[in-house]
Amino acid sequence: MKLWSQYFIPTLKESPADAEIPSHKLLIRAGLVRKLGGGLYTYLPLGLRVMQRLSQVCREELERAGAIELAMPHLHPAENWQQGPRWAAAREIMFRADSAGDGRRGPREPEYVLGPTHEEVITPLVRAEITSYRDLPKNFFQIGTKFRNEIRPRFGLMRAREFVMMDAYSFDATDEGAIRSYHAMKAAYEAFFRRIGVTAIAVEADTGVMGGSFSHEFMVPAEVGDDDVIYNEESGYAANREKATSALVPADLADAPPAGAVEEFPTPGVVTIAALEAAPYAVPADRQFKTLVYVGDGKPFVVILRGCDELEEAKLGSLGFTVFRPATAEEIEPVLGAKPGSLGAVRGTIRNPDALAGVFADHAIRLVGNGVTGANRDGFHLRHVNIGRDLALTRFGDFRRVRPGEPDPKSGAPLKVRRGIEVGHIFKLGTKYSDKFGAVYTDDQKQNHPMVMGCYGIGISRTLQAVIEQGHDADGIIWPWAAAPFQVLVCVLDPQLPEAMDLARALATAAEQAGAEVLIDDRAERPGVKFKDADLIGFPLRLTIGGRGLKEGILELKWRAQKDIIKVPVAEAAARVAAAVKEAWAKA
Ligand code: ATP
Ligand code: MG
Repeated sequence: MKLWSQYFIPTLKESPADAEIPSHKLLIRAGLVRKLGGGLYTYLPLGLRVMQRLSQVCREELERAGAIELAMPHLHPAENWQQGPRWAAAREIMFRADSAGDGRRGPREPEYVLGPTHEEVITPLVRAEITSYRDLPKNFFQIGTKFRNEIRPRFGLMRAREFVMMDAYSFDATDEGAIRSYHAMKAAYEAFFRRIGVTAIAVEADTGVMGGSFSHEFMVPAEVGDDDVIYNEESGYAANREKATSALVPADLADAPPAGAVEEFPTPGVVTIAALEAAPYAVPADRQFKTLVYVGDGKPFVVILRGCDELEEAKLGSLGFTVFRPATAEEIEPVLGAKPGSLGAVRGTIRNPDALAGVFADHAIRLVGNGVTGANRDGFHLRHVNIGRDLALTRFGDFRRVRPGEPDPKSGAPLKVRRGIEVGHIFKLGTKYSDKFGAVYTDDQKQNHPMVMGCYGIGISRTLQAVIEQGHDADGIIWPWAAAPFQVLVCVLDPQLPEAMDLARALATAAEQAGAEVLIDDRAERPGVKFKDADLIGFPLRLTIGGRGLKEGILELKWRAQKDIIKVPVAEAAARVAAAVKEAWAKA
């Protein structure tokens, strides 16, 4: 047990001006963290206790799933990353470090980087240490600090530059084994979130820079989340918007026959979809082809969408470029022959087709059939453009952003959208990293094969804040039992009375023996201040001992999540408290 007067819980009446969302305000006000700089936080004692609780539950569930804990350095030789498959894409978000400022090293390549995640460290380790099928599968995890140079750190621990993550890496001999490891981890995640009292839904996710074949994110539904989840609760479909698809294009849709010869027409000053929709042209957006130009690994490529659709940029990841970005107008003109606003991909109109890495069309343009597109000549468009006959396509793909109301790919029911906080992520990686680092094993026929990997992350510090975002009211935090910094607060209104403090200690001992962690509020403060702080921090169970009640042989028991106060005779209090603690653990 701890005495509040001897501990350190700096609560605040006001929240700092830069705290925009409830959980960020409460983190600061309840004395859990303090800001050092943008995206950098000190965990004060209460915040640290929650971090340790979450880490411990996480550790228990991962060990139950067969994962093995280790700890890797935070400082990585840059070479490890340069040898890996994603140096070009990941270097942007990595902090660099050098051992000496003596100017002997050039400024361009760092000597070390601070680890944003650890595939580039674990894979060479496993390559060196594991060589036989007999030693597989293995799944290693650690819980530690990660560093990412987020451009816009915000919302406190939600998007920080230094944060705590559980990261795990599985190595299997076969693809089926890797899928088993993936499902075991998915189940461990579900158990973790359930135990700490957080609703987190597994949704299909984009594999992004990590590469790999499939992936789920765990999302806490919340308005303040950075991600859109596209879902339908009846069919069970749920996916991050970056990945979500719909059944907009019927599987049996026939290709539209040509509607006439391609015809150029003047469109002076028309450079937007909307301008072409307006009079005198009156071409509805869903009759237009939208032509976008990107640069992938240094080479321009074209993406064609319906005029009424938006590009979902993350989906371009499926094209296999390591890095990609929108092309500039200066890059576009020499290749296509016109400025943005008059672009198209009709065969014969592209000035330098050999310079292109490809022309990729979203499936939904098939709904247009014959449409209008830019002529690759400033101020001109083409009509009667037929997809099959006229467009210089490399291939079709899924590149558009799904909209709510479109038919669910599973059942055809209308899709919905809601915001979510990504608290965890699992990937089936395949052999991308083991190929690159030579992590192979020998089978029983003395044949070598690359290990099949999975990687897994839970944002422990982000989860801490998501717990608060999900559990609070106007007065403060409402901790789920298993996540609370202390489960029980014994609030002593007259701490100068020795019998009050004696009773407080006896009850604290009873609660501890039943398995709770206990804080005694022995501060010489007014009851109003004590109750406000208790509600602000949100200890799940509060016992209140007052001088007046003691004379009557009564004390009060109150659950933070409930309104009513339960009066308990002092003589029964220890047994009642112990029973309450046991019941709370049973429900947690
Ligand atoms: P995001 O899309 O939010 O930037 P991510 O997809 O880049 O996250 P992962 O690489 O999947 O993150 O990392 C695993 C987990 O680590 C995430 O699910 C999230 O909970 C947590 N996490 C990632 N970046 C941060 C950050 N900047 N601050 C706090 N937690 C983070
Ligand atoms: Mg992620």
